Amino acid sequence: MSDPLSPPPLQDAMKRIASEVAALHAVDVDAQARFPAETLAALRQARLLSAPLPQAFGGAGCDMRQLAALVATLAQACASSAMVLAMHYIQVACLMRHHGDVPALLAFLHELCERQWLLASITSEVGTYGDTRSSVCAVEAAPEIGRFTLQKSATTASYAQHADALLVTARRDASAAASDQVLVLVRQADYSLLQTTAWDTLGMRGTCSPGFEMAASGPLEYVLPVPYADISALSMVPYAHILWSALWSGIGGGAHARAAASVRAQARKTPGSTPPAATALAELTVQLQAMREHWRSLAQAFDALVEQGRDAAALAGMGWSLKLNNLKIASSEQAPKIVHAALQIIGVQGYKNDGPYSVGRHYRDALSASLMVSNDRIAAKNASMLLVFKDD
Ligand SMILES: Cc1cc2nc3c(=O)[nH]c(=O)nc-3n(C[C@H](O)[C@H](O)[C@H](O)COP(=O)(O)OP(=O)(O)OC[C@H]3O[C@@H](n4cnc5c(N)ncnc54)[C@H](O)[C@@H]3O)c2cc1C
Repeated sequence: MSDPLSPPPLQDAMKRIASEVAALHAVDVDAQARFPAETLAALRQARLLSAPLPQAFGGAGCDMRQLAALVATLAQACASSAMVLAMHYIQVACLMRHHGDVPALLAFLHELCERQWLLASITSEVGTYGDTRSSVCAVEAAPEIGRFTLQKSATTASYAQHADALLVTARRDASAAASDQVLVLVRQADYSLLQTTAWDTLGMRGTCSPGFEMAASGPLEYVLPVPYADISALSMVPYAHILWSALWSGIGGGAHARAAASVRAQARKTPGSTPPAATALAELTVQLQAMREHWRSLAQAFDALVEQGRDAAALAGMGWSLKLNNLKIASSEQAPKIVHAALQIIGVQGYKNDGPYSVGRHYRDALSASLMVSNDRIAAKNASMLLVFKDD
């Protein structure tokens, strides 16, 4: 489905990559739980990895609405590929918005653009039980040589073995509280990864997200100059919740497209009459449209805040936290429901794994949404905010 929100050349390139590359390999990526290398190569070639960066860096300067539209388009064909791209965009946004004019970070962003580097994220950690806002590991600085070392046991780290660099959360230093975190950039040449668990999951298999022991070092300038608490509220959470929601609507869109194709095939068999499943399809379209409009409205509001220079003040407030959390919870719950409804419309041809109407992969991929930062954890945060927050 076309989306008017992305700059036409990039959106056209993404549509082509989705249909000619990602869709072609999606079944194999899922079956083998392998990295979608072909799709990433095509994204690199189309310079889509630098889409969020301003033109001054050599990027396309896409805003949130445009990035989300790109991710949603790719997700219709291969959700794992789209999750890799979404997570990369989230990391690029954190660096782009919080580099603090540190020369080493600016140089890295220029190089990322030029070479179309892929960034991955390690916020998960053994011992923090899913709470991304606390860390066990700590940065060990050696100011005399201007470098740090960092070791982290991650429970889940998507495509870390295929990335050019990682953004890693850690305590500021060994004496810091668990929530006194920084975000650290580490480059591939400066880290080693020892895989500790497997990634044989129901869905999102192509994200290749097992656990790792990471050992890294780097220049002290790669410790971002802004506390992670601020980066999380102003960038990590807004980009994650909006781009993920767009992605999950893309999964729903992929399943809806298969249901629509199945209903049209039925209609061709009985010319002149509307198949009964067409009514259910019409109802499903209502749900899909609502899901899409939810992330679009928040993306548009986010872009307006940035344009007016009001994003730092607004995003730090509870009103925006609640809106973003509600978007994440609603979209993650809606995605499997939409795929389920598509399955009911298609029938057994959707249940089979090997046909053109199969929605098994969509179903399994969509089930990760509510776990990816647990909805219960987010709802508990909302509950405590609502004790004091009065809506306007
Ligand atoms: C496809 C996928 C890709 C991922 N990629 C990455 C990645 O690249 N990098 C990375 O760092 N991480 C990644 N993650 C991990 C993610 O960031 C979270 O850390 C992880 O999903 C949390 O999982 P959890 O169930 O262990 O933790 P928890 O959030 O602790 O949830 C465990 C259980 O406890 C319950 N629970 C927890 N807290 C509360 C609470 N406060 N109130 C009520 N109930 C609660 C939950 O309902 C759940 O049943 C990925 C996850 C997925 C699914």
